Amino acid sequence: MRINIIGGGYVGLVTAVCFSELGYEVHLVEIDREKAGAINRGIAPIYEPGLDNLLKKHIHRNLTVSGEYQEIVESEFTFMCVGTPPAPDGSADLRFIRSASRSLGSTLKDAKDPHTVVVKSTVPPGTTGTIVAPAVLEASGRQDGSITFAMNPEFLREGQAVGDFFHPDRIVIGCGDDGACRRVAALYDGIDAPLVMTGLEAAEMIKYVSNAFLATKISFSNEIGNICKKLGIDVYEVMRGVGLDSRISPHFLNAGAGFGGSCFPKDVAALVSLAESIGEEPLILKSVMAVNEQQALRMVTLLESRIGDLRGKQIAVLGLAFKDNTDDIRDSRAIPVIQALVERGALVRAFDPLANTAMAKVFPGIMYYESAEGALSGADACLVMTEWPEFSHLDNEFDRMASRVIIEGRRILSCDGKEGICW
Ligand code: NAD
Repeated sequence: MRINIIGGGYVGLVTAVCFSELGYEVHLVEIDREKAGAINRGIAPIYEPGLDNLLKKHIHRNLTVSGEYQEIVESEFTFMCVGTPPAPDGSADLRFIRSASRSLGSTLKDAKDPHTVVVKSTVPPGTTGTIVAPAVLEASGRQDGSITFAMNPEFLREGQAVGDFFHPDRIVIGCGDDGACRRVAALYDGIDAPLVMTGLEAAEMIKYVSNAFLATKISFSNEIGNICKKLGIDVYEVMRGVGLDSRISPHFLNAGAGFGGSCFPKDVAALVSLAESIGEEPLILKSVMAVNEQQALRMVTLLESRIGDLRGKQIAVLGLAFKDNTDDIRDSRAIPVIQALVERGALVRAFDPLANTAMAKVFPGIMYYESAEGALSGADACLVMTEWPEFSHLDNEFDRMASRVIIEGRRILSCDGKEGICW
């Protein structure tokens, strides 16, 4: 069985490597030549635990990569994993989906064998049926039913993506055609997870609603945390008691500096935009975003209330990635915090175990350090923005600060004298 994957980013590369591990012949198309070249040399352009080893194991064996579409012709499946970034109005920008669909269609023109196109990217309901399918069918000229379409949303968490592929909570497959659904489901044989077979649009919607619900839990916990802090109550104690209710579950109740990453902010924004486009006012979703926007800036307000005017002050920022175990800084909450610090004239001393290089492209003018200790030396205050487990061991390192003002945006430290953003 041959599978093609379009787009070699976080989702596409993990999917390609994991399908290779399941024994399929996989071909990855990645138009970014630099990324494709690195993958070809067995080097993952992103950090993801376990990914490098699997890539080295399969590259040039049952996994190949190219910058063009030519080799797609001889396969039975194509998974579309290109990005769907936010447009300026918050809606999903589908230009990569459109162009990948056209390119794929052209390469399927001369093929005769049945082919199933599976959209894995997060796309608004209707996209697979009304944008991908017509573009592929028109470019291929194959209107005879030999190309079918499915939607298989991805739920991986960065930092544990490989584990999530092999042990997902569920596999969702949406189709207009039962046969295509069954063929896609068969690719996951051997993976023990509930299978949800549904329509194309329901599958597309399941992804948005899952992310929106998780984001809602976070913003809800943050709002409760803000109230608890004023009342002198530990929100983590509160949420421990709340989360043991099986109707609620303990997950995603950690109050802090808000959610970031490439998915939650953009997917909630896209759902808001979708709702508004059909005349609905999504009050809860808008509040989820509003709480999130102001939450990160509470770090800076709290800091000012502790050390006053920030002009000329040295502020250590520990953690730049949007979460631990990744080098991804997309929409990281460290970004608005550093921006606000810089605007107030503070001198930022940043450290992240993996994300210094990525953040240096966003903020080339701040100082980066190779260790937490380096960033803390002489600092007037410290803000913790990412829950890196190694930060939990920091203690004497804080003695190197000019003054020991430590504010956590993620509950991770175990040292004395720290204060939480909302605990
Ligand atoms: P990404 O930006 O890391 O990767 C997308 C890749 O597609 C890029 O490397 C880009 O060069 C490539 N590309 C763009 N156009 C192409 C084309 N025409 N042909 C071939 N390659 C092309 O994005 P990602 O984080 O992997 O996300 C991909 C999709 O999956 C998005 O819709 C996202 O919302 C969704 N998703 C992401 C995650 C996550 O944690 N990153 C989780 C679940 C779902």
